[in-house]
Amino acid sequence: MASIAVCPGSFDPITYGHLDIIRRGAKVFDKVYVVVLNNSAKNPLFTVQERISLIQEVTKDIPNVLVDQFSGLLVDYAKSVNATAILRGLRAVSDFEYEMQITSMNRFLNDHVETFFMMTNNQYSFLSSSIVKEAAKYHGNIKELVPPVVEKELLRKYNENK
Ligand code: ADP
Repeated sequence: MASIAVCPGSFDPITYGHLDIIRRGAKVFDKVYVVVLNNSAKNPLFTVQERISLIQEVTKDIPNVLVDQFSGLLVDYAKSVNATAILRGLRAVSDFEYEMQITSMNRFLNDHVETFFMMTNNQYSFLSSSIVKEAAKYHGNIKELVPPVVEKELLRKYNENK
């Protein structure tokens, strides 16, 4: 049986930290669905479709990565694509408590889906989409934090919103 994982997140926008987890995950699982949470409660900078396009663009060289969106329960989405694993990245101890809660809840909802964590690459342990957005907003140098196409789109957004 093929091992299929879902890698969920907001990806607003995708950073090198996310990409590192996706790339490494794609070496471990036969197929990885990177899924954008379509959650109206957050106030994202990029639309779901924009976020999907950016992820597709920067993962196009990884053949076993697919990009999709979901709303509702992640475990239901996982089931719909026959995934038995949820893949998440861990940066620091501060991520731990939140991840523990979500993992317990997902296991409670469906114990056939197992959550796997990968430790971030040290160079990305401080990196988050919100920090990148903050830096981009004030024209900070984000070249080493996001792929060039993401940098370009961030700059465009902030120039548009001026
Ligand atoms: P969420 O809103 O669900 O936390 P994110 O888009 O912020 O969504 O993150 C998606 C996943 O990527 C999470 O598992 C998060 O811990 C992980 N992640 C985010 N940034 C990094 C990073 N710099 N290094 C490793 N993992 C990361």
